[in-house]
Amino acid sequence: MARIIPIATDKDRAEAITAATEVLMRQRPVAIPTETVYGLAADATHPAAITSIYETKGRPRFNPLICHMADLAMAERNAVFDPLSRKLAEAFWPGPLTLVLPLQENSGIHPLATAGLDSVGIRVPVGFTAELIRNLGRPLAAPSANSSGRISPTTAQHVAADLGQKIDVIIDGGACPVGVESTIVKVKGGDVRLLRPGGIAVEAIEAVLGTVISRPKASGTAAIEAPGMLASHYAPDASVRLNATSVGQDEALIAFGSGDISGAAGAKALFNLSPAGDLAEAASNLFDYLKRADASGAKGIAVAPIPNEGLGEAINDRLMRAAAPRGTEE
Ligand code: AMP
Ligand code: MG
Repeated sequence: MARIIPIATDKDRAEAITAATEVLMRQRPVAIPTETVYGLAADATHPAAITSIYETKGRPRFNPLICHMADLAMAERNAVFDPLSRKLAEAFWPGPLTLVLPLQENSGIHPLATAGLDSVGIRVPVGFTAELIRNLGRPLAAPSANSSGRISPTTAQHVAADLGQKIDVIIDGGACPVGVESTIVKVKGGDVRLLRPGGIAVEAIEAVLGTVISRPKASGTAAIEAPGMLASHYAPDASVRLNATSVGQDEALIAFGSGDISGAAGAKALFNLSPAGDLAEAASNLFDYLKRADASGAKGIAVAPIPNEGLGEAINDRLMRAAAPRGTEE
């Protein structure tokens, strides 16, 4: 079973950095808290390290990994920035925005991390992860710390339940504040395209750019460019029913705000993503409540309508994947 190391105090933190760095130097993956979800991190420059991520997750190798940098300077050594991408980096880093950019010629990022593409997905995270990258001196490839196709972890306990037997160390930074993965945009030749909605609202990106950006095509069609877009992903065992206005006795209910859902009192289990109707709070609770609803033994999970604006876009994206039929999961 993985060793779980807390980072509540400065002393804990120093020990955690040392322990995580030691694992990374052995080309093994370590689970780390980020502001989005828990990541399964390994040295992005080392083929054996990257292979260990794909193997631990059971992730198909055509699905490239986001590479995490300590700061913009490290990012510029690995990717080619233009004025638009620099503007976005300056506005949103450190934070939950991933930029897909042309790979820098002398970048040390290993082709296994980019799935052989001539582009690289990069972001600068806050807090512990940035500290760890600085200490290691190399970028970290880090997808979510879950078995491929399952719900992303937002606590160290979620990671332990899924991957605890397969990894050596989990750094416990408490619940992830954002709770959904990063927003991914591709910047190329003066054009900005959304590949995946996430922790930064698309409206905030548009406000910085002063233009509207194009959205992904229908679910599943952008699979090669952003495999997080595959139809079925985040799959719970129970079936998921969206935009529910009523709930049955064999279903769990995931509510939002104060709207009335008929049958709520008789539901098998009841969760409210945000009684106050706050989308950021809802995002931070989403994966934990999906997991708990799934564990309640309910046959199905009914989810109330969520407004499709701000972080609601990322929430609805993840819910649609959770509700998609099996068979196309990554
Ligand atoms: P995750 O599984 O949350 O780590 O998500 C990684 C996402 O970033 C995947 O959906 C990838 O397709 C996307 N991504 C990473 N690198 C690239 C790249 N070079 N080109 C396009 N998408 C990328
Ligand atoms: Mg993931």
